Amino acid sequence: MLLQVKEAKRTIKSPQVEKYSPDHDEKFWCYCCMLEMQKHVTDCNISVLYGGLLEHMSTPEHRTNTHKFWWDNKADPKLRNKFIVTEEETERFKSEVSKALEHFEEKEDVFIKQVKEQHRLEVLQSLSEVCFPGNLQAYPYLSICLFDEKKIGNVICDFSNSIAN
Ligand SMILES: [Zn+2]
Repeated sequence: MLLQVKEAKRTIKSPQVEKYSPDHDEKFWCYCCMLEMQKHVTDCNISVLYGGLLEHMSTPEHRTNTHKFWWDNKADPKLRNKFIVTEEETERFKSEVSKALEHFEEKEDVFIKQVKEQHRLEVLQSLSEVCFPGNLQAYPYLSICLFDEKKIGNVICDFSNSIAN
């Protein structure tokens, strides 16, 4: 448990925001509260790793249970505070998470743009191969059409519509 808690606390200053994957549904067992909870926070789209664990460790119930657990087990008091997330740490985590989410969305946007650009190039490529095989030299005006931005736009729109239909 200590290892996981240490790992979780490390992400307070730099939260790990990732695209959802099924292993983000992993559970965590808290020995102090005798409770199982979600280890990470996810909306099935984006996940904040250790978000669930950190949130749990910041609750007053967990704080009380941890103190009781330490008392009952006569555990090393120096370790106790490692299992509790303070209010300042929660605030820090929240603000870092919102920054990380913004950053993540920017990265996603760039990725989507790249995919779109790649798709555009592929469509152009297949258009010149499928629709005008070897005709560019025989009909030079086609190359003018192909490299006219507006016409390319229209061609791609028509092309995507026909795929969609
Ligand atoms: Zn707990």
